[in-house]
Amino acid sequence: MSFQTQGLVCAHHHLYSSLARGMPAPEVTPHSFLSILENVWWKLDVALDLDTLYWSAALGAAEALCNGTTAIIDHHESPMAIDGSLDVIADACSMVGVKANLSYGVTDRWDHSTIRSKVSPLSPMTDGAKRGLRENERFLRAGGRGMVGVHASFTCTDETLDGAASLADSMKTGVHIHVAEGLDDKDSGARLQNLAKDNWLLVHAVHLDRPLPGTIVHNPRSNMNNSVGYANPVRFSNDIALGTDGIGADMLEEARLAYVRLRESDVTQTPETVWQWLRNAEKFFPEIGKDSVTWSYDNVDSPWHAAFTPGIRCVEVRVDGNLVVDNGKPTHFDMNEIRSKAFEAATKLHKKLALR
Ligand SMILES: [Zn+2]
Repeated sequence: MSFQTQGLVCAHHHLYSSLARGMPAPEVTPHSFLSILENVWWKLDVALDLDTLYWSAALGAAEALCNGTTAIIDHHESPMAIDGSLDVIADACSMVGVKANLSYGVTDRWDHSTIRSKVSPLSPMTDGAKRGLRENERFLRAGGRGMVGVHASFTCTDETLDGAASLADSMKTGVHIHVAEGLDDKDSGARLQNLAKDNWLLVHAVHLDRPLPGTIVHNPRSNMNNSVGYANPVRFSNDIALGTDGIGADMLEEARLAYVRLRESDVTQTPETVWQWLRNAEKFFPEIGKDSVTWSYDNVDSPWHAAFTPGIRCVEVRVDGNLVVDNGKPTHFDMNEIRSKAFEAATKLHKKLALR
């Protein structure tokens, strides 16, 4: 019986999406997963510049920390501001005090400023994908903690997928990639089966039709929000970790949701399964044992209690032993200032989106 846990890990985030709240509604109501990408996320990411990105990342990281999440594995895309973007996110995370594992999501969907929703595997690699690979390489060579990011197989040529896998090998890290999130990407199992390795991060795997090596990241809230189907992660023998896919980083809440969704699919399951998923991402941050979180409930370390007790709040966070959240408030940065700078950046970003 304890008020404490270790720092929690979000195994798949998009810190670039923190300013999406309140963005102008798309002109047409998106009717499918691909249409959500085309009308929402691929409009937002192209409108980002490095200043907007900094405040988006700072807000997302600050909200994570205040919810007991001390480490984030982020997947980033900003097609019109690629160079240096990973340094900007690293700076924002460092200012807030969360550990971060970063990657730039390489894609061939941008070709000479026009967007292609599906990319032929046999086309040559685009300039945009080359720049994305270079950003991953630059960041990793400079000592940044990260992986090689790839958006998804269906927006990449074979040449790009091969290039990302080789770069990851040469940098002694894995590839962080969306896999079969929607039916548009159902061929990704076949395209990745000779490339994937144990150190890869396979995100979503909702429609994955074969075993692939790597850690699978389950994002229950995002999958429900995009209506892509249930990943049913227990069907895989891989390690399963939990992510939010950019919808905040409240990992206790994500685990509670993952549990009821699992239970809806199989009534014999217990919260222990999901609490193990929550802990599986700790292997990406070996030093996380030095981070502790004190919660408002004295049985938070019991999965059955945590799954069924509403309103458990993060009260205190220590990172490497240092007090960084005290009585729910950050000790070394001003949350109101971050919110106000993020609001300014969001206003600029939303104005840009409305003009498109
Ligand atoms: Zn994602």
